[in-house]
Amino acid sequence: LSDRLAQTFKNLRTKGRLSEADIDATIREIRRALLDADVAVPVVREFTGQVRERALSAEVSGALNPAQQVVKIVNEELVGVLGGQTRTLRFAKTAPTVIMLAGLQGAGKTTFAGKLGHWLKEQGHTPLLVAADLQRPNAVTQLSVVAERAGVPVFAPHPGNQSGADAEYGPVIGDPVAVARDGVETARQRQHDVVIIDTAGRLGVDELLMRQAADIRDATQPDEVLFVIDAMIGQDAVATAKAFEEGVDFTGVVLSKLDGDARGGAALSVTGVTGRPILFASTGEKLTDLEVFHPDRMASRILDMGDVLTLIEQAEKAFDAEQAAQMAAKVESGQDFTLADFLVQMQQLRNMGSMKKMLGMLPGMGQMRDAIENFDEREVDRIEAIVRSMTPAERENPKIINGSRRARIARGSGSTTTDVNQLLERFENAQKMMRQVARGGGVPGMPGMGG
Ligand code: GDP
Ligand code: MG
Repeated sequence: LSDRLAQTFKNLRTKGRLSEADIDATIREIRRALLDADVAVPVVREFTGQVRERALSAEVSGALNPAQQVVKIVNEELVGVLGGQTRTLRFAKTAPTVIMLAGLQGAGKTTFAGKLGHWLKEQGHTPLLVAADLQRPNAVTQLSVVAERAGVPVFAPHPGNQSGADAEYGPVIGDPVAVARDGVETARQRQHDVVIIDTAGRLGVDELLMRQAADIRDATQPDEVLFVIDAMIGQDAVATAKAFEEGVDFTGVVLSKLDGDARGGAALSVTGVTGRPILFASTGEKLTDLEVFHPDRMASRILDMGDVLTLIEQAEKAFDAEQAAQMAAKVESGQDFTLADFLVQMQQLRNMGSMKKMLGMLPGMGQMRDAIENFDEREVDRIEAIVRSMTPAERENPKIINGSRRARIARGSGSTTTDVNQLLERFENAQKMMRQVARGGGVPGMPGMGG
């Protein structure tokens, strides 16, 4: 995906401004890329529509070239569809908070129940796991094993004995709805502040499964119903999510098996179609393989352009477009380029220097790369110290800096007179260059950079 996008962006980057045709060409690529990542078709259509609208009306940024602006818009829209901010668990005003899990068989509910129990316990909660999956003979055992590993108690009928009793908690009948209800009641009595109800899934969506889940929901009045979905599910994500939305309804989503090579298209499909936020990502078989879901990180994963996005952020930070425009205007109006201006430019360069490593990836930055690669950040510190040791008069008019002033500045900045001389020479060159640019009428990008 990233290769193709990168190619498209490369095609765009030489143009000054995006035309409608340019945008549409990009949109076509993004559409294809999202479909490759297994995002559902209607979600792709809506998404690309949004991006197109925004790209057409985008304000031209001083710091980014048009291609970067499109990446930025795509990314922002993606984050938006994925839920914007991270959404955290909602706890009940009066304990216990009831969290019910729903999803297909094999989605990762039981595994997630253990992880969530562990996670909550680490945060000082006292969760209770409830085994309301009585569909498969070993489902209860599986949850008990997971719970033990997590160090969290479990409420369950004794395995292999439908009328038996759990070692810790009382006898229950073999009806999942009753087990769930009794589990919540037990949590209340024993002052567990969170209850996690594991439920049964089927291989496919079916009536009976949905009715059972809805009955468990009605009996326990959960604060959160979390729909657990396998990230590898692909195009089926939409149908499955819709079925669970209609059959049980859910307040949030857990994306499981994100440790596989799924691009995460399912994330966009589910949030795009149901509007429900993703709360957690399950990323492995170990108890600790659980992450709070971050829409921005997922967006990068879907686009597979994380590094480029980071770079864009840094470029915006480093390059203050307004400042550059001010400086250009100043030079063009014939005002002199001062040492203070020079210092500002050097500081901008230093900010750029911190992104040295990634420069090769940023489209349109090729010409700056060499200058920045040869740039020594400590140099800026030295220059800064020297300029700061000058009086305001000296900064405005460096011509007055004679021998004794040079010695004083060198002492004050902890450098040598040779350093001071070199700086003044560099500054004069930069100033000359700025004057030339001003005469030529051109707008300088970053003068002083060749220095
Ligand atoms: P359930 O039927 O919804 O309860 O699903 P399970 O929790 O039993 O998980 C089904 C299978 O997927 C098991 O073999 C789990 O070990 C595995 N599994 C669950 N979550 C993850 C995950 O995040 N990553 C990986 N790699 N495997 C997982
Ligand atoms: Mg299970």
